[in-house]
Amino acid sequence: EDLSKVLATRILDVPDYPKPGVVFKDITPLLGDPESFALVVGAMAEQVRAAGATRVAGLEARGFILAAPVALAAGVGFVPVRKAGKLPRATYREDYVLEYATATIEVHRDAFAPGERVMIVDDILATGGTAVAAANLVRDAGAVPVGLSVLMELDFLQGRRRFAKAVPDAGIATL
Ligand code: IMP
Repeated sequence: EDLSKVLATRILDVPDYPKPGVVFKDITPLLGDPESFALVVGAMAEQVRAAGATRVAGLEARGFILAAPVALAAGVGFVPVRKAGKLPRATYREDYVLEYATATIEVHRDAFAPGERVMIVDDILATGGTAVAAANLVRDAGAVPVGLSVLMELDFLQGRRRFAKAVPDAGIATL
């Protein structure tokens, strides 16, 4: 199987989840198939190397599942970007707006070396709000967001445009 077939067949559309009118992308079939998972992790790790990143920042929660093996495969460290209140030491916080609510994410203040190049990893790029907030955290912590790597993007939500506007020097890599 190749990458495009894996993405087409092992990410399922779930209508009306989590609420009516939304089509949720379910990546659990991909994760449950070891060959598919390995193919995806290998391709994302290659993007980390190509970007010259020395750290992978994974976004809670589905981003963690991808980012940790990607970091190991690329030979760089993993940094968790977590929802508010989960990290035990001093953090930077970033508030951002979701569709009907606000959210807060955090990273440890000492998560990155000064000027370090960071690849942000998540499963899906939707509106881009989460990815932009993560890039802001990377900057707050003194590092440089050099790229965003996701399995796929929901084009109609225009997250690519939002991220590119907020973080013009970072590339956006989909599979
Ligand atoms: P955002 O709108 O780009 O900020 O997406 C918010 C978060 O929800 C991101 O971490 C995405 O990975 C996740 N997300 C949004 N839509 C979907 C989906 O259809 N399936 C899985 N994750 C999603």
